Amino acid sequence: MISLHSKQFLETNIKGFIIPSEKVAHVQIGNSLEHALLVLTKSGYSAIPVLDTKYKFNGLISSSMITDSILGLERIEFELLEGKKVEEVMVTNIPRISIDAKFEEIIELLVDYPFLCVIKEDGYFEGIMTRRIALKQLNRHIHRLNHFL
Ligand code: AMP
Repeated sequence: MISLHSKQFLETNIKGFIIPSEKVAHVQIGNSLEHALLVLTKSGYSAIPVLDTKYKFNGLISSSMITDSILGLERIEFELLEGKKVEEVMVTNIPRISIDAKFEEIIELLVDYPFLCVIKEDGYFEGIMTRRIALKQLNRHIHRLNHFL
C-alpha cells in the first residue's frame, strides 16, 4: 500500500507545479551586468535564468558570478559593470528539464540545484521548478502516507 503511494507520487508529472515563465524574473544575454545585478538585488533571488531576445533559454546568472567577474586584485571594480554583458558571465552547463518530467527525475537533480529550468524541445523557456515546491509536495505526500500507518 505504502510503496504504491510512493510510486504514484514519484510518477506524478511536474506540469501543474512549475512557476510559469511570465512569473519568473529573468535577464537577457545582451543586458549589462549592472542591469542583471539590479534585477537580482531587487528580486531577492540568488540566481535567475538568462534568455535571448526570442525568449529561448541560454543559461543562468547569479550575483556571485557578477561580483567574481569584476573582482580586481585589491578591490571590486564596480565601474566594469556597465560595459560587461550577461552572456560573458552566465553559466550554460546546467540541467534542463522537460514539462513531461516526473518528480522522480527532478528530486534527484534538486539535491544539487535550488531550481531547475523547464525548456521546450525548441529551446523556449517554460518556467522553473523549485526545490521548495518539490519539498512541499513531498511533505504533503509523507503526511498523507501517515494516515495509512
Ligand atoms: P525558492 O525555493 O522559492 O527559495 O527559490 C529558489 C531559487 O529559485 C531562488 O533563489 C531563485 O534563484 C529561483 N526562483 C524562485 N522563484 C523565482 C522567480 N519567480 N523568478 C526567478 N527566479 C526564481
